[in-house]
Amino acid sequence: MLPFKPKQPLPIPLNVHVLRVLSEPGIQIRSVTLTDQRLSICYAKEAELIQPRGLIAIDRNLDNLTVADSDGQIRRQNLAKATEVKAMYRELRSHVQRNDVRICQRVSGKYGCKQREKVKQILHHASKQIVMDAKRGEFGIVMEKLTGIRKLYRKGNWQGRGYRGRMNSWSFAELQRQIEYKAAWEGIPVIYVNPYGTSAKCSKCGQRMKPEENRTLKCSKCGFIVDRDVNAARNILARGARFTPVASASEAMVREPARSVVILKVDADELTRRPTT
Ligand SMILES: [Zn+2]
Repeated sequence: MLPFKPKQPLPIPLNVHVLRVLSEPGIQIRSVTLTDQRLSICYAKEAELIQPRGLIAIDRNLDNLTVADSDGQIRRQNLAKATEVKAMYRELRSHVQRNDVRICQRVSGKYGCKQREKVKQILHHASKQIVMDAKRGEFGIVMEKLTGIRKLYRKGNWQGRGYRGRMNSWSFAELQRQIEYKAAWEGIPVIYVNPYGTSAKCSKCGQRMKPEENRTLKCSKCGFIVDRDVNAARNILARGARFTPVASASEAMVREPARSVVILKVDADELTRRPTT
């Protein structure tokens, strides 16, 4: 129990990282919530929207992220670790499930939660990298507008149903959510384009591609041979460029993150363990 008296301030030691974030210029604290599990500090700042000089496009697959930008750079980020985490917990659950249904549900829920936290961490790393790249290159971010679970299945050729399918679509949405709020915080515009045909059409001439060996595609018209993820990223980039007048005044397609609110969650446990100045 906390020694708490009405209308008396309650001192809570914060760690260095939290203090540094909260002392940044322009930060306003909106609310503070203390539970037995954690202290949540909700803070906000006005983010000025940057005028991008180009775009950075993201294609997301089960095992990787492929990023293509207006300068012609292609970068791939491995997400296999997130897949491994999923596989590990799936394995654990399969052992549990032979026993009592009720225990199974409880354990399943617990593993599900831990698994999400682990995958979240991996995605945080990836989303941070993308937003940093966008900031450095003064790029706006382009992603596919993923609607409906069918698209999500098709995307990574996942035939899995139930838990696995939910997990995969969740991690897609989670990555986009993270990119969106991190970009908003930096004033980087984010746009969504129609995903239709991005993986099947040639990123040079627009013809339909034929699958070749080793995840490559070949264009039947212009002969272009390309990795399928790179092709998709290039198509998303081209689509974004067509819809966004980059570095111009009209920004009808750009979502304007005029103000972003980020909720920072810190475990109370951690606060007491590492009290600082
Ligand atoms: Zn072609």
